[in-house]
Amino acid sequence: MIGKPKYKLETIPVWDGVQSGSECFLCDLMKEAEQHGVDFYLGSSVMNPETRVRVNEYGFCNSHFQMLSDAKKAQDLGLICDTYLEESRKKFKKAFDGVLNVKPGKKTEKAIAELSAQFTNRESGCLICTQMKSRLDRYVYTIIQLWNTDPKFKEAVDESKGFCLHHYNELITTAPSVLNAKDANAFVKSITELELRNLDRIAADNLWLTQKYKSANSNKPWNGCEDAHHRAVDKMVGKHRVLDPIAKIKL
Ligand SMILES: [Zn+2]
Ligand SMILES: [Zn+2]
Repeated sequence: MIGKPKYKLETIPVWDGVQSGSECFLCDLMKEAEQHGVDFYLGSSVMNPETRVRVNEYGFCNSHFQMLSDAKKAQDLGLICDTYLEESRKKFKKAFDGVLNVKPGKKTEKAIAELSAQFTNRESGCLICTQMKSRLDRYVYTIIQLWNTDPKFKEAVDESKGFCLHHYNELITTAPSVLNAKDANAFVKSITELELRNLDRIAADNLWLTQKYKSANSNKPWNGCEDAHHRAVDKMVGKHRVLDPIAKIKL
């Protein structure tokens, strides 16, 4: 492997996370990053010309535009929409005109396809997802490095509840680019054992939840499994994920 990535270690948030007792502390850190992104784009940066240009160029995914919309910052979001709409109209003008002026037949289909391609292009990539992705890369790197160099951290990971499957996948696919072959092998095995142990725990909790709804068990204790179905979903697909980062820029 040539050119292993190097990031500044994010030791404090990662240590706090591993001790939090969460089903996936990378999901928790992504929730924080997401909120930070929303606050950033609705804060004083709205007036910063560089940010405005970036927003007009890329915008946000559906999920994050909706979060901005829910944040009750009418004036800030209004300013964003004002120029984003104007910029979108400029970008779409040719394709809109193409549909308006086309003759029936094959040419109509072509004009529709051209307009549709503009939509796909306009909607791909999200500035908040991009910010989240750059934090995720640093957190994943830190977890792998600390696991490999700090026995106390390794122990804390072993005692944690593991990760959602989405972030587990991030960890195992990143490890070979961070560690040497022998260490990467040890990391992937250890994290996989941790993950399987915790999937067994979630499955057992979820099974008990289903059993509790049988009348024969109605008087038996819940054993903390009232929310097992929610935890199962969180474990299977994660709670807070990067959805659509812009490949060509780093934030
Ligand atoms: Zn997760
Ligand atoms: Zn997004």
